[in-house]
Amino acid sequence: MLNQLSQSHLTLLEACPRRFQHAYLDQLMHPMTREQQAALEWGNRFHVMMQQRELGLPLQAIDTPAESDDAALLPTVQQFVQTNPDLFAVQPGIGRYSEHRRTCNVQGYLLTAVYDLLIARETTAEILDWKTYPKPKDLRWLAQNWQTRLYPFILAETTNYAPDQISLTYWFVRAETQEGTPQPQSLTFPYSAAQHEATREAIAQLLNQLTQWLHDYEAGIPFPQVPEEEGLCPNCSFGTRCQRNIQPSRSSIDLIPDVAAIEEVSL
Ligand code: SF4
Repeated sequence: MLNQLSQSHLTLLEACPRRFQHAYLDQLMHPMTREQQAALEWGNRFHVMMQQRELGLPLQAIDTPAESDDAALLPTVQQFVQTNPDLFAVQPGIGRYSEHRRTCNVQGYLLTAVYDLLIARETTAEILDWKTYPKPKDLRWLAQNWQTRLYPFILAETTNYAPDQISLTYWFVRAETQEGTPQPQSLTFPYSAAQHEATREAIAQLLNQLTQWLHDYEAGIPFPQVPEEEGLCPNCSFGTRCQRNIQPSRSSIDLIPDVAAIEEVSL
């Protein structure tokens, strides 16, 4: 019933199995707020525009409404490209793959990654990911994020690149200087054989649990709830359903699938 898993699935499954059940099996996701919807659409348009640029199509070809936030879209893309010429230079013998999807079969589940841009050199592979939300302050969170672990894992499993030949770079395209001047910032995570094995183990453990929980679910047993002391429930919109809180609000865990979805845009 559920065999294709992205980093968003793994993130939610790890955070709270019951919330994963509500979101992906019961399909009970709450509608997005207007702000979340606007952020998602902006991110989607940005990704489309970057793909068009990579294909050599004119940037103006994208139809964007004349609302204030969208007005920043084209300048953001232009500034990003102009201030990072090395990143966007086409060089002979170097493969560039935009919105590149790869899947890897683990325990019967198809783990899926969509690389915003994959730059494939003879001995190194660079995964690039455009982030249209603010750069997180907690970089340890980003390092442990499932996307940071899963994207290089899938590339190492499905190509001849060794783990230490792979890196993942996030570009926070709407970052600003302290003075408020737009200045995209990047953060690179190298990969290694040790990380690869640790990720393999973490995936195996999570998928073993998922298989058991899916089996139980079919027998009428719900997925487990996250321990209350972890503090996620007060900010979860399923609090009432779970009898864990009274007043659902939209923050932290509520944002997990929505923000992640921005990076999962399928073209
Ligand atoms: S209220 Fe708590 S246990 Fe229930 S889905 Fe939300 S985070 Fe999970």
